[in-house]
Amino acid sequence: MNDKDAYTIATLGSHCSLQVLKGAKDEGFRTLLICERQRLNLYKRFKFIDEILVVENFSEILDQTCQQRLMESNSIIIPHGTFIAYLNSEKIERISPPIFGNKWIFRWEADRGLKQRLMEESKLSIPRSIGSKDDIEDLCIVKLHGAAGGRGYFLAWDKKSFDEGVEKLIKNNTIKGEEELYIQEYVSGVPAYLQFFYSPITKEIELMGIDRRYESDIDGIGRIPSKQQLAVHLEPSYNVVGNIPLVLRESLLCEVYAMGERFVEAASRLVPPGMMGPFCLEGIYDREGKFITFEFSARIVAGTNLYLEGSPYSGLIFDEPMSMGRRVAREIKIADGKDILQQIIT
Ligand code: AMP
Repeated sequence: MNDKDAYTIATLGSHCSLQVLKGAKDEGFRTLLICERQRLNLYKRFKFIDEILVVENFSEILDQTCQQRLMESNSIIIPHGTFIAYLNSEKIERISPPIFGNKWIFRWEADRGLKQRLMEESKLSIPRSIGSKDDIEDLCIVKLHGAAGGRGYFLAWDKKSFDEGVEKLIKNNTIKGEEELYIQEYVSGVPAYLQFFYSPITKEIELMGIDRRYESDIDGIGRIPSKQQLAVHLEPSYNVVGNIPLVLRESLLCEVYAMGERFVEAASRLVPPGMMGPFCLEGIYDREGKFITFEFSARIVAGTNLYLEGSPYSGLIFDEPMSMGRRVAREIKIADGKDILQQIIT
């Protein structure tokens, strides 16, 4: 089929769905939002959403009726952070409607071991992982598995501080046991999230934007003087509430592109058909300006919401406002026009 109007761009109502569907509409597609009833009041305001499929819970996307509606409307699903958080890799792999990009790579994003392997094969500098709480000697960050948006992360510097953190997470029902946690060397420096798009059609990597996250309450703790911090035993948390735009020193951009290219190359070897579409390398610039990658996202990240009208980087590539959502829709349009849509969906 070669008529772009015949395709519908669909996604879950959360994360970056507004940007994705606005971009799809700008590229001439029909749009469909799978929306939890409690959020209907928000999403029904936006005229660029053609159809809203109301569900009680996102996991209903696996139900026959929901999948059938997506198939009937000739939908292509755009996966984002909420999509992979609600549906585990196994469920995503079983979904019948086509997913933009490589759905097999989400397993590599969700599983710590696979994630580490892909980063190592990409020759990225990564923080040391600490095998056991008995090996904690320096400042460490303790993380939960999966796309938790920093929720529940805590800092530990010895076994005792680790155990105390675990106890709190168990008490507030965030985890059942410490085996759900992952300990990583704490890298000091400043965080940066590098937003890329890789086109399997042009075989080129595009740097679309850079952001940093605004996290509660680690970004608020500096507003409290140290005397009071110490008095009330403040423990930082890393819950993302928003994103802040960032531009890098131009001299850092060479390595940014090189890292993106190495990631794409490694993904093509390890997870065929490779990295397609948006992805993000997430890390810390240390005092030497070296980037230590602590995570990647193998799909669109919410930090791209900053750049609905384009970014200081997308503006160097496109002569029109190009959000990441719109870039995805553009890729689908180009692939459809060349009759190679099957190469960019799974
Ligand atoms: P994430 O959910 O992995 O994006 O990380 C949430 C927060 O933890 C961000 O503020 C990161 O800067 C911070 N973070 C994650 N890993 C590390 C690390 N190894 N060293 C220092 N900060 C980290």
